[in-house]
Amino acid sequence: MIDNIIPLFLWTLLILVIMGVATSREWEPAETFTLFEPPPWPEQYRDQDGNILPYQENGRFQNPAMKDRPNVLSFFWSALTGKDDSNIPSPAELDKTFPVIKPNWTDISNARMTWLGHASVLAEVDGKAVLTDPIFSNRASAVQFAGPARYRYAPCTISDLPALDAVVISHSHYDHLDLNSVAEIARVQPNTEFFVPMGLKSWMESNTVADSDNIHEMTWWQERNLKDSDVKIVFTPANHWCKRSVSDDNKVLWGSWAVLGTNNSFWFGGDTAYFEGFKQIGDKYGPFSMAAIPIGAYQPNWFMKYQHVHPGEAVRIHQDIRSNKSLGIHWGTFKLTYEHYMEPPKLLKKYLQEFKLPEEEFVSINIGESVEL
Ligand code: ZN
Ligand code: ZN
Repeated sequence: MIDNIIPLFLWTLLILVIMGVATSREWEPAETFTLFEPPPWPEQYRDQDGNILPYQENGRFQNPAMKDRPNVLSFFWSALTGKDDSNIPSPAELDKTFPVIKPNWTDISNARMTWLGHASVLAEVDGKAVLTDPIFSNRASAVQFAGPARYRYAPCTISDLPALDAVVISHSHYDHLDLNSVAEIARVQPNTEFFVPMGLKSWMESNTVADSDNIHEMTWWQERNLKDSDVKIVFTPANHWCKRSVSDDNKVLWGSWAVLGTNNSFWFGGDTAYFEGFKQIGDKYGPFSMAAIPIGAYQPNWFMKYQHVHPGEAVRIHQDIRSNKSLGIHWGTFKLTYEHYMEPPKLLKKYLQEFKLPEEEFVSINIGESVEL
């Protein structure tokens, strides 16, 4: 009996200490965020140009930039007891403040990004259509009866999409890899090529009807042309992690994607914290004609900065990768964190002013709208 009580007591004490630390942590004010600068990537995991390379230990990809992230329990406790500024209003009010627009795919002049909510973007580059992290489900979750639900609906259905040449997946978190969406796209558009991070091909094969030849599993800096085309897809780094089940942490790689055409190019940031990898992407493949860069899901920042960027860091990424025109994504769709739901685009404007960049260089739009070059 006493043998059980002592460990139980010690565990309870530990949890209380973690909770106490978390509760006492104030939010860093969003207006004066600093740039998150993780320790440099280990020297032994770089290529001859000094570009960072992924590496594994015991079958799991490692992210040394995340090693100082506070315990996840402290986040959950602060989520339960800390402040929540999200203030998401009723659907009727949202229709006024943040309307969802039906996309218009016709009449493209040059290149275009259409935001389909969260991190889903249809990028049209040199006549090719590439869809990023498609999610059309109501919840970003393993099941559709629990987990983060949409507060803004998708602007179209999968059957409304134009013919897709490729789908790129940044990582396996539920808000980026949505089983229902990829399975349906593979069913209704069987010629689509799927570009996925290293370790995800077998998941695609067991969960979708996509032809194995159309699923390309890639590692950082790996390049591959789209079928019968000069347009090149490159898997580029990001500062993030992966999880889909209780014990599969980082068994699959994460990253960002570049789409390189002869006339135009596009970069998709996926889901990421700030780190040195972006300058390397810019040096190797920049400048990009256009980019989709995350700007939301950053409060409480003492925890979130290890995996997500705030709008100020997003502007740094825009500069690092040398984007000519960027679109803010990863906000306004699912409530994942606690900043006010309309704060990311407001802060983006503030940081653009601070960086002395024109507002048109990095924009936020309504879901369903497009940015055209
Ligand atoms: Zn993620
Ligand atoms: Zn995400």
